[in-house]
This record gives sequence, C-alpha cells and structure tokens, in this order.
Amino acid sequence: MIKHGRITALVFCFLLLHFSPTHSNTVCIIGSGIGGASVAHFLRHYSAIYHPSQSPIGQINIFERNGVVGGRMATVTVSGETFEAGASILHPKNYHALNYTKYLNLQLKTPKLTDDSLSLGIWDGHKFVYKTFNSKSKLPIVQRLVSLANSIMIFFRYGFSLFRMSSFVEVTVNNFLRYYEGFNSRPVFDSVEEMLKWAGLYNLTTQTLGEELVEAGLSPLLIQELVTVITRINYGQSVNISGLAGAVSLAGSGGGLWSIEGGNWQMAAGLINRSDVVLHLHEEIESVSYLGDVYVLNSTKGKSYNCGVTVVATPLDELNIDFNPRISVPPRKLQHTHATFVRGLLSPAYFGLNLLSDIPDLVGTKESPDVPFSSISILKQHENDMTYKIFSREPMTDALLDKFFSSRKETIKINWAAYPHYHAPEKFAPFILDGQHLYYVNAFENAASTMETSAVAAENIARLILSRLSSGVDLSSSNLTSVDSNPSELHSEL
Ligand SMILES: Cc1cc2nc3c(=O)[nH]c(=O)nc-3n(C[C@H](O)[C@H](O)[C@H](O)COP(=O)(O)OP(=O)(O)OC[C@H]3O[C@@H](n4cnc5c(N)ncnc54)[C@H](O)[C@@H]3O)c2cc1C
Repeated sequence: MIKHGRITALVFCFLLLHFSPTHSNTVCIIGSGIGGASVAHFLRHYSAIYHPSQSPIGQINIFERNGVVGGRMATVTVSGETFEAGASILHPKNYHALNYTKYLNLQLKTPKLTDDSLSLGIWDGHKFVYKTFNSKSKLPIVQRLVSLANSIMIFFRYGFSLFRMSSFVEVTVNNFLRYYEGFNSRPVFDSVEEMLKWAGLYNLTTQTLGEELVEAGLSPLLIQELVTVITRINYGQSVNISGLAGAVSLAGSGGGLWSIEGGNWQMAAGLINRSDVVLHLHEEIESVSYLGDVYVLNSTKGKSYNCGVTVVATPLDELNIDFNPRISVPPRKLQHTHATFVRGLLSPAYFGLNLLSDIPDLVGTKESPDVPFSSISILKQHENDMTYKIFSREPMTDALLDKFFSSRKETIKINWAAYPHYHAPEKFAPFILDGQHLYYVNAFENAASTMETSAVAAENIARLILSRLSSGVDLSSSNLTSVDSNPSELHSEL
C-alpha cells in the first residue's frame, strides 16, 4: 500500500514536471503602451521564424494599471469628436509604425491642413515676432502664391541657416535608419550607449541641441525662434535638450507626417491582440522579487505571478514598484506637459489683433517668463467656433484661460508625465536591470521619446531576450547575436 502510494507520488511529480506550466519561459511585461506591445509582438514574430518547432517563449502576460491599453497613445473626446491627447504624429520614416499599420490593417491619416495652408505665428508674450501669411482661399493658385510668399519670407528672415538645419536633421534620420537593417549587419545591443554608438548617434547626447546647432552654423535667430518653437511643442523644453532629442524633435516638424485614423493607440491594441498575450487590465504591479530562478510579480489585486523573464515597459521615474533585490537607475526627471483642449474662440485682443482670423492656426512661442503656454493649435474648425489644443508646462487655470479665450464651451485638462527632462550629457539606465532577466525598454527614452523609438528599443529587447534565453544569461555582449540567421529584412515581413 505504502509502495503504491510512493509510486503514485512519483508519477504525479513526473506529470507535474512535464505538464505543469513552466515559469522559466513565461514572460511578464509591465505596461501596455507601444513599448510593451512591441516586445510581445517581436518575441512572437522572431520565435515563429527562428524557433518554429519549439518556441523558447511560453505564456506572455501584459500588466496594465489602466482599463485601456496604449499608455501615452490615448484619445480625448471634445464635443463628441475624438482627437489624439498624447502621442499624435508619426514621421514618414517610422518604419515599425508603418509596418504595424499594414500588418493590423489600420488606416493612415494625413493632416487636413497641409503645411502650406497652415499659418504659423511666433509669440514672445507681447507680439508676434514672425507670422506667415494666412490663406483661407480654396483656390489652388491663391494657395500656391501664398505658399511662395511664405517661402520667400522665411528665407528672408532665417537665410541659409534653414538648409543647415535640414541637413543636420537629415544626417541624424539617416543614422537612425540603421536600426532597420537586417540581422546580418545589425548586432543585438545590451546597452543604450552601445546601441547609440553603433548608429553614430551617441555624440549627439553629449551636447545640447543649442550647442550642436551653433556648431552646424545656424544663426542665433533661427535657434531662438523656429527651433525653440519646435522643441517647446514636441518636448515642452528649450534648446537645452540634448542634440539627439532635439534632432528627433526637429524631424517631427517636417512634411509627410501622419497618424492613425481613430487613434494611434490601436497599434498597441492590435499588436497585443495578435501576439497571443494574456492581458491583465486594471492590474498594477507593485513589486518584483527575484527568487533565484524566477521573478515573482505582485499586483494591487493581491495576485502573484511567476515569470522567467520580466520586462519593464514604462518609465520607472514616477513609479513606486518595489524591486527586490533593489535595482539602480540614474535619477531622471520627467517633463510634465499639460494638454488642454478647448472648444470655443480665442480672443484676438489678447494677441493685439483685431480679427479672430488674424490669429495663426499654430501659435508657437519663444522662451520667456511672460509666455504661459508652449503652443496653441487649431484641431478643428466648426461652423461658429473651433477646437484648440494648448500645451503648457504649468497647469492652465480657468482664470488664465479666460484671459486669452473670449468664449469656452468645453475644456478638458490632461496632465502628462510626458517624456524625460532632457539634458546633456545624458546618462542611460541599463537595458538589463539586474544582470539576469529583468529588462527595461524605457532606458532608451533618454535618447529620444517617440512611439517609434519605443518600438525600436522594444525590438532590440525582444532580440536580447531570445538571444540570452537560448544561450544562457552569462553571455558576453559579443555573443549576443544568436538570433541572427535569416537575412530577410525584418520590417518587410511583419
Ligand atoms: C503630450 C504628449 C505628446 C506626444 N507627442 C508625440 C508625438 O507626436 N509623436 C510621438 O512619436 N511621440 C509622442 N509622444 C511620446 C510618446 O507618447 C511616447 O514616447 C510613447 O508613447 C511611449 O510609449 P511606452 O510604451 O514606452 O510608454 P507608455 O505609453 O507610457 O506605456 C506605459 C504603460 O505602462 C503602464 N504602467 C505603468 N506602471 C505600471 C505598473 N506598475 N503596472 C502596470 N502598468 C503600469 C502605464 O499605465 C502605461 O499604459 C508624446 C507624449 C506626450 C505625453
């Protein structure tokens, strides 16, 4: 009887070993933004290509403290219409985002107002120091003439510095394109520094944008005006941000920009849907403990999860996750951007103008203590009023809004912990937080914060995980290329 009992226990243990879910290949991802969703996507995608018979990746859990996925890709509804509230524009060379759009059958959207028909004014707190001509005419010939006049005017003010600025951006974008190269030429990177150095981008993080542009021969006027307007809109910061964040910001002000019809968040939603993920919404991770061969994640729901691999896909800076053993990342402040959405009408008198139509479609601003906002732009023209988006560093109080709005029907205020507060030289957190299998996608955000840079960092993290899982964690970085085998272009076959 006893003997029989022992045999039963042994058989049970054997069954447990072979059929219970193994935690060593369970991947847990904290955060369902574009970073977390992209890690899940590339883990599944590369496993299917390079390990078709037996994937090293088991269950993938994604934890999201909110009730929706997408993180900083989110929409806001003003008077029943939906607008991007956070990340809104993508660059024409954001190839991961473009491929996600195709793969997920999402629809691309280009801005209704073209660059030529969008009027711009630069406000210094007292006057417009620069203002383009405003054409509301629908006649193509009038639009072309206005566009020509604006080109002459901008050249007259900033001269050849404009071409130097373009070439600075072009060189940086071309270097960034190296991250789409095939596996034969592109190694797996185990640190942000290594990743940036390989693409020739690291040096740009050691100097401010202002310093870089002076070296590139740009005039002080262009830096203080147009360049400042762009960095204030895209990162809520001055030209003291690093050269790399600045170049990315400038690239995001060129032509051909796009977004996704219905909201950019659909990229994260679609990738998660198609990557065989167990999604835990409304579940915040409070602690991550490493117990020798497994990470135990505890959530606010009082649940515990055992994971062989843990990926942090959110900035750690304003979070309270308790790591045991403790991890160390360089201190980093986040820049808060207050996005205020108003349905109403701006007051021309506030801007020293007589007519509402004299206020530019996009009001950019110079650095000055007299300017309480970074930018105001028209999102939609209605029959009798508009929907505007205002970016500011400080919250917009109602009293302040009433100073520059003559009427307001609806106001929505969002406080974003938006992106790192950039400085130079930048210090980077490690991609591998503990030397084991705890990874940090948002270490790359000190280089630049965009949807695409999150996807690029996530793709590298997915390769890093697969490479280290198949070869053991104590590999030297030079060996971290074991995923490399298929010469096919990764972004053509998603
Ligand atoms: C106002 C604004 C404008 C922007 N404009 C642009 C733009 O035009 N173009 C562009 O490309 N980029 C833009 N960005 C930047 C872009 O939004 C980000 O770089 C990108 O979306 C970051 O994605 P992520 O997945 O790395 O992080 P996030 O999107 O922040 O995702 C992290 C997720 O983790 C969740 N989370 C955090 N802690 C926990 C926890 N403990 N447990 C569970 N879940 C947790 C969060 O709720 C969040 O959903 C903008 C950002 C802001 C705020």
